[in-house]
Amino acid sequence: MQRMNLAMYLARLGAALFIAIAVLPLLALAAEGGSGYAASIGVPQIDAAQAVGSSAGNAGSRGVVSVSHPLAAAAGAQILEAGGNAIDAAAAIQFALNVVEPQFSGIGGGGFMMVHLAAENRTFIVDSREKAPAGASADMFLGQTFLAASTSGHSIGVPGTLKGIDYALRQWGSMPLAATLAPAIRLAEEGFRINRFLAADTYNVRTTLQPETRAIFRLPDGSPLPEGHLLVQPALAQTFRLIARDGIDPFYTGDIARAILDVQLRSQIGPAGAGRMTASDLAGYDIAVRQPVEGDYRGYTIKSMPPPSSGGLALLMMLELLEPFPIGSGDGWRFGGRDALHVMIEAMRLTFADRSVWMGDPDFVPVPVKGLLSECFLATRRAFIDSGSRMAAPLPGDPRACDSPAAPSPSRLPQVPVEEEKGMHTTHFSVLDAAGNFVSYTSTTEYTWGTGILVPGYGFLLNNQLTDFNFTPQFSASIGHPGANDAGPFKRPLSSMAPTILFKDGKPLVAYGASGGPTIINTVLNITLNLVDHRMDIQQAIDASRLSVTSAAGAVRCEAGLPPDSLRQLVELGHDLPDGAGVPFCNESIGSVQAVVVDVQNGRRYGGADQRSEGTVISLPR
Ligand code: GLU
Repeated sequence: MQRMNLAMYLARLGAALFIAIAVLPLLALAAEGGSGYAASIGVPQIDAAQAVGSSAGNAGSRGVVSVSHPLAAAAGAQILEAGGNAIDAAAAIQFALNVVEPQFSGIGGGGFMMVHLAAENRTFIVDSREKAPAGASADMFLGQTFLAASTSGHSIGVPGTLKGIDYALRQWGSMPLAATLAPAIRLAEEGFRINRFLAADTYNVRTTLQPETRAIFRLPDGSPLPEGHLLVQPALAQTFRLIARDGIDPFYTGDIARAILDVQLRSQIGPAGAGRMTASDLAGYDIAVRQPVEGDYRGYTIKSMPPPSSGGLALLMMLELLEPFPIGSGDGWRFGGRDALHVMIEAMRLTFADRSVWMGDPDFVPVPVKGLLSECFLATRRAFIDSGSRMAAPLPGDPRACDSPAAPSPSRLPQVPVEEEKGMHTTHFSVLDAAGNFVSYTSTTEYTWGTGILVPGYGFLLNNQLTDFNFTPQFSASIGHPGANDAGPFKRPLSSMAPTILFKDGKPLVAYGASGGPTIINTVLNITLNLVDHRMDIQQAIDASRLSVTSAAGAVRCEAGLPPDSLRQLVELGHDLPDGAGVPFCNESIGSVQAVVVDVQNGRRYGGADQRSEGTVISLPR
């Protein structure tokens, strides 16, 4: 997590970044704890009954933001400071992230904004996931490599982020779109010093494939940008100014739309050709407001992202599978203990097997949500977990009989393809305002840099989200495979993003989520178990080493810091851990988590953020 003193904070903002009206309140903020940043280490555990050592320092805080980049966190804090609510702050954070973390999210992509409105005690999601164009077909990626498809206009989904934010602001915000764009405009216009994460990502080949991208994200001699480079993005600033003045119409029906449509034709893949997006696809794009999937785990309620993400559904399935096991009880069940890690791996393998068959866009395919979450189904899946041995690669189960009495007879579905492993993409941030409204928002252009195609003259990157569809169509009437995530016109590709809120006794406690493709689901599971079973505070839960499996076959990815004895025992059980000259070797970095917390007992508000990125918490005192 990024710790900043005031001098560093202001230096990072840059002299002209924020007008005095924004800086003065931040000075007050800094005075509270001698720092412009409210650390969360050592905060009480989330269970009110367990809360210890709570400090009055932040009680009644006017708001907290937790974001993967300090300048985007500052943009959100500025909006809260100016009286904005959590939705306003979330909008400003997302626009600022488009500038300072352009490789992960922006208006050329999509995302899921989970909102909890305190006054109405209501939780819902604004789904701005990209949609396939009308011309999409199930075989559109058949035979393509991920690299070719994901750097082509062919994989660009109709972007949703801008429409989602505009809709959320109109419905639940308190500020106009233009006000939430102001910090991002300054950052793009005046520039900022890039951090080591962005500098490292400019080595990616995607910064070299298109001239506009290369001109911004490489030096004139073609080399990657060094840390500390002053990155100025005038075209992006102009785009935001245009949107601030004219609203979102230029993007969906005007000049920006025309530029998007032109550039997607530029790069083609094989016989599938160029992008298939049309003016009517862009003009017709619409967001959806969805109800979260919901489940209980040891007295807590978890609300998370429903289809078209697999995130929340898979998270709840894993938690239900794991609930009977005494995770957190000590010995092998302690954090990092062999038994705890073993059952986590098995739950992940079972759930990823089911995920790839049954989950897809519910506006186009029936997703058996009820069946997948039922004990009727999960008991049959849990029966495969033996705490003393590793199961053979599980076939997908068939939840339909538990979903509806009229379900067809169970199918014997084939082994599913191994999920393609990807790296650290996407971003998650969380916001809490003075009124107790939460936003838990995961946002993405899919792969790091998306397609690598920057819209000429407008300065933002276009996503490659359609590569989240099955490359090889899976539908088969004869074996009963629904092809839930086969590509199709207007469909949203299956996501793994899992913005989540944890509740106790009906009250929201923690908003959290993660980046990292399919590992997102496992990261959110790790965090949930750390909080609930291992009794960690939020920062400990985020810092703790993670483990992830995203296929039935079960290749384990893991971070340094897990007990070597446990890892050795997992190998003895037959688990597939990374091998380092004969010993299990964990050295990955899995996802980045940003969270905000309310202690229900004393109302104290704080956050936790991830050192795996430049995660930053800013808490505004009373
Ligand atoms: N496309 C991914 C998803 O929606 C997010 C991008 C990533 O993190 O790989 O789940």
